[in-house]
Amino acid sequence: MFRIDNRGVYLAQALEELPWLVHGFGTRSSSEWPPGDAEVATLRQTHSDTVLVAERAGCAGEGDALITNRRGITLGIRTADCLPIVIADPSNRAIAAIHAGWRGTLLGIVPKTVKAMQEQFGSRPEDLVVVVGPGIASCCFEVGPEVAVQFSAFFPERKDLSGRTKIDLVETIRRQVGRNDGTARQFAAVGLCSVCRADLFHSYRRDREAAGRMVSLIGVR
Ligand SMILES: [Zn+2]
Repeated sequence: MFRIDNRGVYLAQALEELPWLVHGFGTRSSSEWPPGDAEVATLRQTHSDTVLVAERAGCAGEGDALITNRRGITLGIRTADCLPIVIADPSNRAIAAIHAGWRGTLLGIVPKTVKAMQEQFGSRPEDLVVVVGPGIASCCFEVGPEVAVQFSAFFPERKDLSGRTKIDLVETIRRQVGRNDGTARQFAAVGLCSVCRADLFHSYRRDREAAGRMVSLIGVR
């Protein structure tokens, strides 16, 4: 369950229910976003599986996931087709923000972030709320056999992964965090395609070098 607020930002009901948290998935029409007073920690995003702990605002370094339990720090991810994912641990008041395209998804950046939250904050996977923002959906994510075959471990029921086909990254991530790494307590996805919905979202696949970036945030108040 999601709503879009008067700033043009998508909010997840599962996260709005947590009063200690701020969050939102920006769109191409978002205004005052990030909020002017936000202390945002960011990354030089590289399609890796590197998870960094954010201790303060500013660039934390090269990587594609940030975790923290510090109050007053907001974690920020920029995307245009890749998936922005935020995670909240209500028991330990810890959070994560992840940038995941197909490379990062295959590298397991989402389960690796869950593992990092376990190690750093004592988070239990079954307590986590995992929310996926807008990004490229399977309608527009057609890949060649060399990429498709790498998803076969996640889709044992599919016999068409040896050829050109469409891949659902959100479903891949849902299956990853629901496997041996533990089951997320809640998993929700905006489910709108950044390529199809030019009215709402930036898209690198659609607009190439002219594409802007959307900002997704999560922070501990
Ligand atoms: Zn689409």
